[in-house]
Amino acid sequence: MKKFVPVCSVLLLLSLLFSCATSRCKVEKMDDAPKHVLLIGFDGLSSYSLTHGAEMPVFRNLMEEGAYTLENRSVLPSSSAVNWASMFMGAGPELHGYTEWGSSKPDLPSRVLTEHGMFPDIYRLLRNAYPEAELGFVYEWDGMRNLVDTSAINYLKPVALSAKDTKQAVTDVVSYIKEKKPLFCSVIFGEPDGAGHHYGWTSEQYYAMLTHLDLALAEIVKAIDEAGIADETMIILAADHGGTGKGHGGKTMEEMQTTIVFNGKGVRQGFVIPESTMVYDIAGTLAYIFGLERPQVWLARPIKSAFEN
Ligand SMILES: [Zn+2]
Repeated sequence: MKKFVPVCSVLLLLSLLFSCATSRCKVEKMDDAPKHVLLIGFDGLSSYSLTHGAEMPVFRNLMEEGAYTLENRSVLPSSSAVNWASMFMGAGPELHGYTEWGSSKPDLPSRVLTEHGMFPDIYRLLRNAYPEAELGFVYEWDGMRNLVDTSAINYLKPVALSAKDTKQAVTDVVSYIKEKKPLFCSVIFGEPDGAGHHYGWTSEQYYAMLTHLDLALAEIVKAIDEAGIADETMIILAADHGGTGKGHGGKTMEEMQTTIVFNGKGVRQGFVIPESTMVYDIAGTLAYIFGLERPQVWLARPIKSAFEN
């Protein structure tokens, strides 16, 4: 009998090791992940405009030389605050509680709160995992600052990103990238939403705004290059919702379908993402890139097919 004891001990040890391994397996991490991730968002940029001739050469180049989907879906209602919140918070309005276009706080109680009193978002996860990391959030629409845990962010800056003088508009972003080389930074343009509401989502002015925004995007891409971090950076392009007529919030695919683009370090090239994706999967993908455990309350899934590993 005695001679079996060591065998039992080995089995016990193995089972302990196995359980450790499986609990650790919950935290998935991209292999050879980028050192910098830049999430560039455009309020109201519909996939419809991209399939209907939008002149955005820089955007298109990042798309075609990266991995993308034109069929990403917004959560309902197809409005701003509810969708931006979902993008950062990895879940839909039923869980984080931001339910309307202009929600500045949860309209129903967030299902879970962090010790900082907010639904867990990607910034809080990053801050907890990387206390010293440089995290930036540059936004144009005032309402944006209510949709992230600002206590986790180093550089929080409202900027008129869509202003006429493109270089001037992105000068803060450009110097931030060059000086701080952030681990993660979001740059969220307030347009083309305004042009859509004013002139319509299929208007000439809306399309002109897209071309204008593309110039700003070019400046940001150039800044990454000039900062010497292009080889280590992943760019993500995204939007909260599209639009139809002079509005959005409803259930047409023109309102609900947006584009997600991944480009840069570790990303497949010329790849159309086959998975079904939702706006909140961006948070799940960021968690995957940075090796963060996704909170149980999140619905977000990492969009892994976009990556080489
Ligand atoms: Zn709007």
